[in-house]
Amino acid sequence: MIFYNFLTRRKERFKPIKSGRVGLYTCGPTVYDYVHIGNLRTYVFEDILRRALEFSGYKVKQVTNLTDIDDKIIKRANEEKTDYKSIGSKYSKLFFDDLKKLNIKKADVYPKATDYIGEMLKLVGKLDKKGYAYKGEDGSIYYRISQFKNYGKLSKLKKREIKIGAMTSSDEYKKEEAQDFVLWKAKKPKEPFWPSVYGDGRPGWHIECSAMSMKNLGEQFDIHAGAVDLVFPHHENEIAQSEGATGKKFVNFFLEGEHLLINGQKMSKSLHNIYRLADLEKRGLDPLAFRYLILSTHYRAKLNFTWESVNAAQNALRNLHLSVLRVAAETGLKKENHPENKADRVRRSVSYGESGKIAYKAGELFKKAIDDDLGTPAALSMAWEVINNGKISPKDKMKMILKFDEVLGLGLGGIIKEYGKTPVKIKQLIDEREKSRANKQFIQADSLRKKIEQLGYTVEDTAQGPLAVRKI
Ligand SMILES: [Zn+2]
Repeated sequence: MIFYNFLTRRKERFKPIKSGRVGLYTCGPTVYDYVHIGNLRTYVFEDILRRALEFSGYKVKQVTNLTDIDDKIIKRANEEKTDYKSIGSKYSKLFFDDLKKLNIKKADVYPKATDYIGEMLKLVGKLDKKGYAYKGEDGSIYYRISQFKNYGKLSKLKKREIKIGAMTSSDEYKKEEAQDFVLWKAKKPKEPFWPSVYGDGRPGWHIECSAMSMKNLGEQFDIHAGAVDLVFPHHENEIAQSEGATGKKFVNFFLEGEHLLINGQKMSKSLHNIYRLADLEKRGLDPLAFRYLILSTHYRAKLNFTWESVNAAQNALRNLHLSVLRVAAETGLKKENHPENKADRVRRSVSYGESGKIAYKAGELFKKAIDDDLGTPAALSMAWEVINNGKISPKDKMKMILKFDEVLGLGLGGIIKEYGKTPVKIKQLIDEREKSRANKQFIQADSLRKKIEQLGYTVEDTAQGPLAVRKI
């Protein structure tokens, strides 16, 4: 597999530290609000990364943190007149709901920052011992950037740019240099705190990820993924903390997903264009249509979200589901009942070998696309090529498509299973409609179709007979 490594800004061949295993850390949400569709794009990209690694046979351990203590959480808790714990559990639950709707696989561990305070303090202790930490005038503990020679190795920012970047942050506390960042925040009135040898306080955001990733994946691990807006300062600071403390290379590969734009603009409160998944659902859009849209753009390219583009994705996904159902229906037909009838059987049995060959080739091309820095647009079009290729038998098509869906995660296996579970009531209505149509009672057939639609299904007439498809 080849990934674009943000550390070197080059495509590199991936080689894990331990043969056959991959340690993957993906920055999770700060649980104080709903995640928006920009965040969700990142989580889908990371899900594809994990699935692609598994597709290649790696055993992946994925760790996604939940930042459950932070300025924003405390502020939200005060606004909602509750404490940080209930804010955290409320928004964690909503985060998991969204992941499920987008068919995102569960990470192996979801560490919560407040469960790792001890680990964070241990890390601060190590940094202190090596001269990377100092106490500021406000009593908080800061990281001394000038001490870490490789600072800027991920973001490639020059010293001056780092200073300017850091000055726009809201850290107004007293420290040696503007670019230094906080490791341990001294206790402030009406804020939760933990006791420590550095005085009562709470951890800074960056130390949380260093502590949780190293505790769960070791001091050195394979891949750290996130979004480009986390490169500086968050990921840069994670490197400074972890490598400062251990003296070892922290992570071999950094993969950073690009932004999602709304109508060509960045999402922002002032533009009122921050959408969450529920906003899409309210417009009758299936969350998997949004996943389809994400897959159709490479993760390192900006994705322009418009209502037209997501509606087009919904139509494409619907067509894909329907095509898969058609193939499934064909597969279900006994050979002697096949429309191409018995006389054609000799030709069909000959073409079977050819079908297998073409399907296998398609599978190779799919894997090649995915292995080349997660080429999802090419992988998606490979799925369509298999569906539309008349030379591939339905059975081979089915095998391939279900295999592809292990990476794409578009619910193709699910739709077939669900189709098998079509309620008896719907099946009866479809049979009645067929009879009406056969008797040329078209008005009655049409009202039966409407009745089926009211029950959440649509009828698609195919060469293999009518198919009931759950509406999306
Ligand atoms: Zn993080």
